[in-house]
Amino acid sequence: MGVVDDLKAKLGESAVLTGEAAEEKAQGGWSALGTPLAVVRPSSTEEVSFILKTCHAAGQGVVAWGGKTGLVEGGNAEGMIALSLERLNKIEGIDTVSGTMTLGAGVPLEAACDAAEEKGFFFPLDLGARGSATIGGNIATNAGGNRVLRYGMMREMVLGLEAVLADGTVIPAMNQMIKNNAGYDLKQLFIGSEGTLGIVTRAVVRLRAAPKSQDTGFVAVQDFKNLPKLLRHMEAALGGTLSAFEVMWEDFYKLVTTEPAAGRPVLPHGTPYYVLVESLGGNQEEDTPRFETALMSALEAGLASDAVIAKSEAERNAMWALRDDVAQVIHLFPIFTYDVSLRIADMEAYIDEVRAALTAKIPEHKLIVFGHLGDGNLHVIVGKHDGTPETRRLVEEIVYGPLRKIGGSVSAEHGIGLEKRPYLGWSRSPAEVALMGVLKRTLDPKGILNPGKVLEGEMKAAAE
Ligand code: ZN
Repeated sequence: MGVVDDLKAKLGESAVLTGEAAEEKAQGGWSALGTPLAVVRPSSTEEVSFILKTCHAAGQGVVAWGGKTGLVEGGNAEGMIALSLERLNKIEGIDTVSGTMTLGAGVPLEAACDAAEEKGFFFPLDLGARGSATIGGNIATNAGGNRVLRYGMMREMVLGLEAVLADGTVIPAMNQMIKNNAGYDLKQLFIGSEGTLGIVTRAVVRLRAAPKSQDTGFVAVQDFKNLPKLLRHMEAALGGTLSAFEVMWEDFYKLVTTEPAAGRPVLPHGTPYYVLVESLGGNQEEDTPRFETALMSALEAGLASDAVIAKSEAERNAMWALRDDVAQVIHLFPIFTYDVSLRIADMEAYIDEVRAALTAKIPEHKLIVFGHLGDGNLHVIVGKHDGTPETRRLVEEIVYGPLRKIGGSVSAEHGIGLEKRPYLGWSRSPAEVALMGVLKRTLDPKGILNPGKVLEGEMKAAAE
């Protein structure tokens, strides 16, 4: 009997999908998921352990699937067992005294946020894929998103977790405390390692106080050098409540405020940069005047040339809808999308360099830039080219190349997956990559966990 038969015998036919049913499950991913050998849907940690033990014995590759909204082919399960955690979707409990939530890896992010809200708390992770993305996937990829400036990435929100190692060993690390320095913090091995070191099955996450005020504004900025000044000004003036500082370059703003996009300008076109700023606080009556004063003084200081404040929920939603309407880039197809990070001080020269190189090599290109400037994170989209693999490589070199000399990262928040693997060494030193290899071979000696992702050649090295 093969691995799939063994799994069917133990877990039941309905938990092991093959053929058309498996292919159907592999549809709708945000990046390629491949054609898995089977899609296995365990309903408990014990079943995950059994699956890994079985696959480990057979040397069979396993790829964990959450909401399938990853963007770098980290979930590509071509010829492997896809381990879907969708049935581990229970919110086990909320500790309202400690402010923690214990939940299964398959709980959708939005459901976790709703459950926190019901108890008067706030789970601050916020990203475009919130309806489908799962907590386990958020952990495996160390998800970022729109509020990192204030609350950090997923890593800062995870107190404890349970993970299953390649050989089926369950590691219960369900720590409930913010402070715990008893030895190595093992959960960090699994956060952001894209399913290559273990499979996360449960977690304890930290909840925050639910904000009682929300103020949102849109600001026009004439000069890049004023963007970091405006950021620092707003941080200081808002006393730690600044929660979003989302910058849109003019081309992005035009794209999402012009037909066929549904959005309309909240400030006139014609300014090089637009910023969505938001503050989450504790008292609307006090916070709104403070927010207005902060923006007013930014205008007076010449940091911004124009600003508008949302006066209603509808206006706030309209502002966020512009920032979130990344889908408009379909009008620029074919596109290549990038997610880089670099020091804010290097950003202007970096974008100038990328733009100049693209103009020289691909005159017809369209460059769209936006992102979480406060986190050093820019999303760069290059469209209107021939879309060939040769052009992809050329554009990758143009976008990633300049990051090497300034210590930037080829992946701010999307991860490495398959897509960025050739460039890992452009952002990490040889010693760092070598240590990653040591961890990989130690925890997954047969190389069965998400084979070939993140690190190149580890599967091969492990098999030798
Ligand atoms: Zn982002």
